[in-house]
Amino acid sequence: MIPQRYEWTTDDFVAGALCLELANTVGDHSKTRDVERLTDWDTLLKWAVAAKVLRVAEARELRKAGDHDPSSAQQALQALLKFREVLFKIVSALAADRAPVQDDLDKVEATILGAVRSAHLVRQGEGFDWTIGSIDAPLKMPLFRVALSALRLLQGKELPYLRECQRCSWVFVDRSKSHGRRWCRADACGNRARVARHYHAKSS
Ligand SMILES: [Zn+2]
Repeated sequence: MIPQRYEWTTDDFVAGALCLELANTVGDHSKTRDVERLTDWDTLLKWAVAAKVLRVAEARELRKAGDHDPSSAQQALQALLKFREVLFKIVSALAADRAPVQDDLDKVEATILGAVRSAHLVRQGEGFDWTIGSIDAPLKMPLFRVALSALRLLQGKELPYLRECQRCSWVFVDRSKSHGRRWCRADACGNRARVARHYHAKSS
């Protein structure tokens, strides 16, 4: 993976689900997934605040925990990145109407089980939902919150509207009226595709 220093803005969060926002933390403009934006624990925490996985105060605590035990923080980051890539494989398969690999589903299931074991049922509007508050292993808080998001996505009614960008590997829930959204961002990949078409038309 090629590390990339990156400042997140609201324009980066186009997926419609936290777990898909995590899948979109690679920075390349193709399907290679070889540009890594989550390069270290601190960067992960910055992303988690920008993505609303963590509150600012929670990120501050986790930063302290990482300073106190850097090797455990590094392990937690690696676990998150592994989960991201396995989840991406599943989502990418579903977006293409292919069956996910069972081994990948087993891995995601194991992480979700760990998350649910650390979660509490908390009243959310009309019903209850699994919520990760302060847990025994706080370094796992980002991973477990994203895992619960994956659980909701996999159980939810929006699964048929999962899409993968036609140019890069970013994934999203297509909530457009026509369900015909093709790009992660029209002003990024959509624009690049238009420029490429124009170039090919000129040179042929
Ligand atoms: Zn894209």
